[in-house]
Amino acid sequence: MADDIDVIIAGAGIPGVTLALALAQAGLKPVLIDPVVFSAQTAPTFDGRASAIAYAAFRQWRALGAAPALEPHVQRIEQILVTDGHTPGAAAGAPTPFYLRFDAEEIADRSDGEPLGYMLENRHIRAGLAQAVQAAGIEVLAPARVARAEFGAREATVTLEDGRALRAPLAVGAEGRGSVIRKAAGIGAVGWDYRQTGVVATVKLARPHGGVAHEFFLPGGPFAILPLTEDRASLVWTESARRGAALKGARPEVFHAHLQRRFGDFLGEATVEGPVFIYPLSLQLAERLVAPRVALLGDAAHGVHPIAGQGLNLGLKGAAALAQTIVEAGRLGEDFGSEAVLERYAAWRRFDTATLSAGMDAFVRLFSNDNPLLRLARGVGMAAVNHIGPARRFFMQEAGGAVGDLPKLLRGEAL
Ligand SMILES: Cc1cc2nc3c(=O)[nH]c(=O)nc-3n(C[C@H](O)[C@H](O)[C@H](O)COP(=O)(O)OP(=O)(O)OC[C@H]3O[C@@H](n4cnc5c(N)ncnc54)[C@H](O)[C@@H]3O)c2cc1C
Repeated sequence: MADDIDVIIAGAGIPGVTLALALAQAGLKPVLIDPVVFSAQTAPTFDGRASAIAYAAFRQWRALGAAPALEPHVQRIEQILVTDGHTPGAAAGAPTPFYLRFDAEEIADRSDGEPLGYMLENRHIRAGLAQAVQAAGIEVLAPARVARAEFGAREATVTLEDGRALRAPLAVGAEGRGSVIRKAAGIGAVGWDYRQTGVVATVKLARPHGGVAHEFFLPGGPFAILPLTEDRASLVWTESARRGAALKGARPEVFHAHLQRRFGDFLGEATVEGPVFIYPLSLQLAERLVAPRVALLGDAAHGVHPIAGQGLNLGLKGAAALAQTIVEAGRLGEDFGSEAVLERYAAWRRFDTATLSAGMDAFVRLFSNDNPLLRLARGVGMAAVNHIGPARRFFMQEAGGAVGDLPKLLRGEAL
């Protein structure tokens, strides 16, 4: 095995692979490790989710040359409609005055005509990025699992389950919430279980969706209808763990009947395509983003509720900031695995990560609730934001990931 590795990346999920591409483009040598080979990650049964990718995060893939493989699968989000307390179904009753409407046209002058976000099925993102990894000649050890790691004064040593050992000035933990690297570095995590399950299904719609994403805040949790190509939609709704498991195990006709009760005639007849997936929902934040010879990325650093579709976007912003920190330090002849350098990445990402995680958590509590006072407060808040143009535009740019001190890749520039 090569011993001239610059960065060991544990976890070839979407943020880990994006970081590897950015480092390789800048002339560094990353190695990716994952127990699941790429061909299995792209199978329709592996990850049924689709992600709302902020336009700034998509620019990063353009800058890394991965966009051409992704573009055929992209659905632009032109409008987002947020409604409180009412199901989209036929039995929904009178429409609520409390809603929020975001329109891509309103920020076209600041976003270069980009949409509010891009909907992409995770399996297509994984396939497109895997293709780019292969083209860049990045070494991928898969199937292989990180078993332990040690951190010395000058290098990190990562040992795989099969006994192989890798050494490099820096190890990145991008292996999700159970990060072995995080635990080996002695970095604790805080968080809680929402006791909710995200039920995810893809449906074919009988009517065109027009690029509109809907989010309904129901007492049991949010229910999102997210547009996909070919007039399909990704449905994400929250249920109790018990109901979620029952839905996953339900016969197709029972699931369909449940769906129609929820959907009603809102978007016409909806036909389920492929399997139903369930994901347990929890919050998990690492107490620190870095330690000497270690940086955490993606859900290993911050696992948040998917209420506003920001989890992966946070990981992609992190990949851009970490890549820039490493590359710029390397060019100045600095030791990029040292805590002094890595602290720049942590400082860059700390505020955004903490505010977004806390914001999402508050959102879940405020909206997964049928308390009449809270209902009134959030309704008034939504109506107010809807009437104040600058506030609405702020939220749209925030969701687009285009505010604050943006790393170069998020501005679409190469490192
Ligand atoms: C229902 C749902 C909908 C969502 N929708 C959105 C959305 O619209 N927009 C958005 O931005 N985010 C969304 N998210 C969040 C997003 O999916 C996650 O933030 C993202 O998948 C995290 O990626 P990750 O690679 O950090 O972690 P993971 O996806 O957990 O991947 C970790 C990787 O590490 C590997 N691994 C595990 N253990 C080891 C080991 N010991 N050694 C080496 N490798 C290992 C795994 O095989 C895997 O490939 C959603 C989440 C859910 C649950």
